[in-house]
Amino acid sequence: MTVLSESLLSLQKSLQLLPGIGEKTAQRLAIHLMSNSKDKAKLISDAILNALDKCKPCSNCFLLSDTNPCPICADDSRDSSLLCIVENSKDIFLIENTNEYHGRYFVLGNLLSPIDGIGVNEIRLKELDLFIKNNCFSEIILALSPSTEGETTMQFLSEHISQFGINVTRLSTGIPYGGDMEYSGVSTLVNAFRRRYPIKD
Ligand SMILES: [Zn+2]
Repeated sequence: MTVLSESLLSLQKSLQLLPGIGEKTAQRLAIHLMSNSKDKAKLISDAILNALDKCKPCSNCFLLSDTNPCPICADDSRDSSLLCIVENSKDIFLIENTNEYHGRYFVLGNLLSPIDGIGVNEIRLKELDLFIKNNCFSEIILALSPSTEGETTMQFLSEHISQFGINVTRLSTGIPYGGDMEYSGVSTLVNAFRRRYPIKD
């Protein structure tokens, strides 16, 4: 007879699905939640269910939002000549935090990574094309990480966007966000925007 609680094990396995959570941490968290933090566990599970119900990608730009269109797409005062393409919603929150950029956004959802089977069908290319056609952008800023996947994606997008005859720029490199904008400070990100430069095919 096993002494392991199946439900506890199932909770642990679910927690292990989260990025950066290994087996030991998941087990510690599961036991913590079930031993003396049941109120906390209820709060977390309610918050997850609530977010699952209310938080959806905006049908224009795919920012995760409780409203559709999202507050950015609904804001007429934003600069509608600028489009900033990011990998995910988190990048938009980071950029908004700088108060440097006031244009529109588009969330790509993925970076191209042929080795992991992530090709052009796994990024929101058709949706991006539609978004560009439905707007009058004069500049498209690729705010993707300077990782191998980010560079591959920026190269692909700059060639792809050339059909629309719109200037494509990228954030200045030399910023230490090696794969993740999260780790660059606000001032670094502000400088990366101010020193953005055109991409040539
Ligand atoms: Zn939106």
